[in-house]
Amino acid sequence: MTQQRLKLLAIDDTPTNLMMLGRALAPDFDLQIATSGAKGLELAIEAPPDLILLDVMMPEIDGFETCRRLKADPRSQAIPVFFLTALSDGESEARGLALGAADYITKPINVAIARQRISNFLEREGLRKEVEAQRDRLATLVAELERAEGELSIAAVAFASQNGMVITDPKGVILRVNQSFTRLTGYSAAEAIGRTPAVLKSGRHDDPFYQRMWNSLVEKGYWQGEIWNKRKSGQIYAELLTITAIVASGGITTHYVASFSDITEDKQAEAEIHRLAYYDALTRLPNRRLLQDRLGQALAAAARHGLYGALFFIGLDNFKTLNDTRGHDVGDLLLVEVAQCLRAQVREGDTVARLGGDEFVLLLDGVSGNADEAAAVAKEVGDKLREATSRPFSLDGQEYRCKLSIGVSLFAALDTVEELFKRADLALYQAKNAGRDRLRFFDPAMQAAMDLRGALESDLHQALALDQLRLHYQPQIDTAGRVIGVEALLRWWHPQRGLVSPNEFVPLAESTGLILPIGRWILETSCVLIKNWESDACTRSLQVAVNVSARQFRQADFVEQVKRSLKASGANPARLKLELTESVLLKNVEDTIAKMLAIKRLGVAFSLDDFGTGYSSLSYLAQLPLDQLKIDQSFVRKLPGARKEETIARTIITMGRELDMNVIAEGVESEAQRQFLEAHGCHAFQGYLFSRPLPVEHLTVFLQEADR
Ligand code: C2E
Ligand code: MG
Ligand code: MG
Repeated sequence: MTQQRLKLLAIDDTPTNLMMLGRALAPDFDLQIATSGAKGLELAIEAPPDLILLDVMMPEIDGFETCRRLKADPRSQAIPVFFLTALSDGESEARGLALGAADYITKPINVAIARQRISNFLEREGLRKEVEAQRDRLATLVAELERAEGELSIAAVAFASQNGMVITDPKGVILRVNQSFTRLTGYSAAEAIGRTPAVLKSGRHDDPFYQRMWNSLVEKGYWQGEIWNKRKSGQIYAELLTITAIVASGGITTHYVASFSDITEDKQAEAEIHRLAYYDALTRLPNRRLLQDRLGQALAAAARHGLYGALFFIGLDNFKTLNDTRGHDVGDLLLVEVAQCLRAQVREGDTVARLGGDEFVLLLDGVSGNADEAAAVAKEVGDKLREATSRPFSLDGQEYRCKLSIGVSLFAALDTVEELFKRADLALYQAKNAGRDRLRFFDPAMQAAMDLRGALESDLHQALALDQLRLHYQPQIDTAGRVIGVEALLRWWHPQRGLVSPNEFVPLAESTGLILPIGRWILETSCVLIKNWESDACTRSLQVAVNVSARQFRQADFVEQVKRSLKASGANPARLKLELTESVLLKNVEDTIAKMLAIKRLGVAFSLDDFGTGYSSLSYLAQLPLDQLKIDQSFVRKLPGARKEETIARTIITMGRELDMNVIAEGVESEAQRQFLEAHGCHAFQGYLFSRPLPVEHLTVFLQEADR
């Protein structure tokens, strides 16, 4: 430590004293002098000395008063004061000390002693200050240590928490993990450190999810959320994760601290609560509450899209008897089986619910824009359900056949959930009342239509065997008025109903699959006709057009059927033409084209029936190996005069020409129609203008007359 020269201030009104002092102390101290108490006080403030030597006996302000004032002023308070006192009477010394003086020196001054005494005092004083300063420093250090220790133990406690904790560097590389981390993830510290938390990725979140997390960390220094992660064992779990960026004073992120807890159980509990609230505990099907929700949504969708839906109330016939005779456990088994069976019959988006007891509900949404069609679909679905559940279930080792009663109500935009429930329930009641094991519609007209359909359906099964089906032939005419071919049109002579229109029974035959044997019969009959006509000059060159339905065409062996019919009859394939509709062509295009090409290789031609009513795109049409386009009668009917239909007819004719297909118009009833069509380049016609479809005997007469 560099020894600074210490400063003394001597306050004394006796110059000789001061001179003496000055001489004696000069080598060791800087000495300032004041000759009165007032001056001394001034100097003590102006340039505070290390020690003041103060004479007691002075005029005006004596030593005691000066001392009192020095000690009263905070600026001079701390400066030690030595009294210079002539009186060694103890009393004034005591008084001086009581006023705060540090010591006293008696007059006449013994210079050597005084110097020694001052030096000693100041040395002691210096040491004392040094000690005090050291003590202060120590105290600060101790306080700091205590604080740091406190923080460390807080951090340690926090780190040892039940939550999993991870500390990473700014790049996300793991630096430390706690024990809970290991417990929750299965990764030990050694396995985790040096890798990134990406090892925990479950694959349940997409990249944008993690991107948002990082963005939040970079922007806000914080992210919290629920995340699916994967344990080392491969098990996926849910955690509530909080990540905080540790930012140093310069604003640079030094670490990330992540803390997480396993909330899988909460999630499971949540899911369980949801399941209990919305699903039937026995069958796991939606319950009444969820069904009502879904029906509400279905009604809103019906309003948006203008489509009909159907609500089925389904009861198990004789369920009570089963319960009573074989016990509730077996009853429950049946309910579970039926639930699975119903579920398996419908599409993913359809709702099968259980209301309780043996009451199930099926909700079909967006079935059709047309009520009759929707009813037909509903009927079909209902029959499918009845058929599926009628196969025997094995209940506790015993076979059981289950019959269903079904009540159906269609719904559209303006219906309400309550009203619909009532209607379907009533229909179910009627189904049960009418003898069970059946489907009833709420709407009586719909029920009547369905009854008719049902009756027709069962009669149609017999039609072929009972020889009630016939083919009629309608001539097709060219511009010169010559008959160039005929279209074979199916007729059903019903013993009670008389002639049933193909528009009525062909769709029915389609949906029941009866169209397959019927279609084969049509094809065979037409081929036989072609063969028979070969021997007659006026029929030899006629082409016979045969309508092929979608279901028929889609049979795997359809090509084979055509081949067989031709071969069996020996008919010339060039005389056969198949009429397809756009609905056939639009489905499974590749298969369609392959089949068409195979049939064309036999020498058979194709015509596109009802053209203009479907949605075929031009580019798609050009790919198909078609020979003819048939303008639909709905356009022909409005010719000439209706601008839209005129345009469509003209466009189809142009299109046919461009695509190298000939064009025929069907439903031509008037000369004006024929003329318009011919004027625009159509070269073939079919319609009542020339002839109605005729039984083969009448057709022969017609042809002979035409030939004359
Ligand atoms: P399509 O194939 O478009 O047959 C044309 C329909 O128009 C026939 O009705 C025919 O009788 C009718 N028609 C012909 N000329 C005129 C006319 O000038 N004015 C009016 N208003 N109608 C005319 P049809 O015979 O009742 O057949 C209806 C539909 O039933 C057929 O439409 C076809 O899709 C289907 N169909 C008929 N026979 C068969 C068949 O053998 N097999 C298949 N798969 N479907 C058939
Ligand atoms: Mg046709
Ligand atoms: Mg047609």
